[in-house]
Amino acid sequence: MNVYDSERMAKLLAPLNYRLTSEIDSADLIIVNTCAIREKAEQKVFSFVGRLAGMKKKKPNLIIGVGGCVAQQQGQKILKRVPFLDVVFGTHAIGRLARLIERVEHERIRLVDVAPAPGIEVFDAPPEFGNDGQVTRFVTIMQGCDNYCTYCVVPYVRGREQSRQPDKIVEEIQSLVNCGVREVTLLGQNVNSYGRKEGLCTFAELLERVNAVDGLARFRFTTSHPKDLSTLLCRAFRDFDKLCSHIHLPVQSGSNGVLKRMNRRYTREHYLGKIAELRHYSPRIAVSSDFIVGFPGETGEDFEQTLDLIHTVQYDSLFAFKYSDRPDTPAAHFDDKVPEEEKDERLKALLDLQDGITLEKHRSLVGSIQEVLVEGLSKKQSPAGGRLSGQDSTGLQWNGRAPSNRIVNFEKGPDSPLFSGDLTGKLVRVKIQAAYAHSLRGTLEGIEPAPFNSKGDQSYAA
Ligand code: SAH
Ligand code: SF4
Repeated sequence: MNVYDSERMAKLLAPLNYRLTSEIDSADLIIVNTCAIREKAEQKVFSFVGRLAGMKKKKPNLIIGVGGCVAQQQGQKILKRVPFLDVVFGTHAIGRLARLIERVEHERIRLVDVAPAPGIEVFDAPPEFGNDGQVTRFVTIMQGCDNYCTYCVVPYVRGREQSRQPDKIVEEIQSLVNCGVREVTLLGQNVNSYGRKEGLCTFAELLERVNAVDGLARFRFTTSHPKDLSTLLCRAFRDFDKLCSHIHLPVQSGSNGVLKRMNRRYTREHYLGKIAELRHYSPRIAVSSDFIVGFPGETGEDFEQTLDLIHTVQYDSLFAFKYSDRPDTPAAHFDDKVPEEEKDERLKALLDLQDGITLEKHRSLVGSIQEVLVEGLSKKQSPAGGRLSGQDSTGLQWNGRAPSNRIVNFEKGPDSPLFSGDLTGKLVRVKIQAAYAHSLRGTLEGIEPAPFNSKGDQSYAA
């Protein structure tokens, strides 16, 4: 979500002649886009901003802004806390960013804008990104959230759930594809309740339209809420050929008592039923999840149930977080807070369990063929740390992702097809030779015969 917002900010500031730079010392404007989801993320914001004080001293005309969720929540307080900041703007003020920066440039005043956005037109304009060589992009299909999980700050900083018009979404995807993008990820806090409130089409119908976008190779979506996962959506993994066989389905806890206090509105049994249904329609679907350890009142027994759930589901990967109090949320006022050391121990036990499962799954893939969308050269081999174009790639290591979202590095093997040039953006087949904790490695088996992206390059032989 924040990556998408940052891209929008860069786009909106282009008419003021600002260009992105990787050299922070040469910047005339620094925008810090913030996340308030966990306490740690928020702490990072202030330590990063604090380090900019020296730069501002050396270069008084440097403009520094803080945007995003922390800005939305704290507004004026941030200007007070950081005396050298020029502008603070909330999640609803992104559309007004250019005007805010212009005012700072001309009037040299300090500004705060955390006012709500007028409706959803703010993100209805297709951002026309996509011509920077990246082959995968995010597309926001909805913003905000109505679920009010008791630990979560999102509904307070991002507002109520609002879905975009399907036509606008499809239009944006088509324009990205025209710029060479091959894969999109549809983004929202609860994508499977898409359109329900506004009476737009269902999420499954939206997926059908995305699947039909000419030239798009693959797509994904995130995040799904288990309470809204319909049979129709489970079937989509069987029926839509471009939909990657991976679902991120955060469960948060394996204990019904904890789930209830989290206000997640499903039970462990319901969740396991949904996993079974997904696997019924798409037997090899990769499943990932989010977990919170040490939610207020979580007992040792509750935590055992979480471990048991992980063992039962056999996730392909997961993210786990130590619970932290967030301002304004009900859970911040719950009793029975779990001590920090206990949270540390539980986090370690959970991650150790999953690491074993992940490695075992990776090992079982050795010898298999994976379809990989090539994102570029593996970082260590690319001179600029990015992508190469038009170079002889023999002997180089490329990387990309399988439909399961696993990272795959590969190189030319003795039996690989002949090719020269850039594989970025190509769908290739890779034979897996080695399994690691966080990635797979293999050799090239084949390249899609006729790339159908807008570059129209047909010079690769299968
Ligand atoms: N909308 C998504 C997730 C959004 S936030 C969903 O419902 O699953 C991403 C993850 O951050 C959450 O899934 C949760 O695991 C974690 N998270 C959110 N609030 C948290 C908090 N107060 N403490 C620790 N982790 C939290
Ligand atoms: Fe937060 Fe729950 Fe909404 Fe996810 S579904 S954004 S965790 S309130």
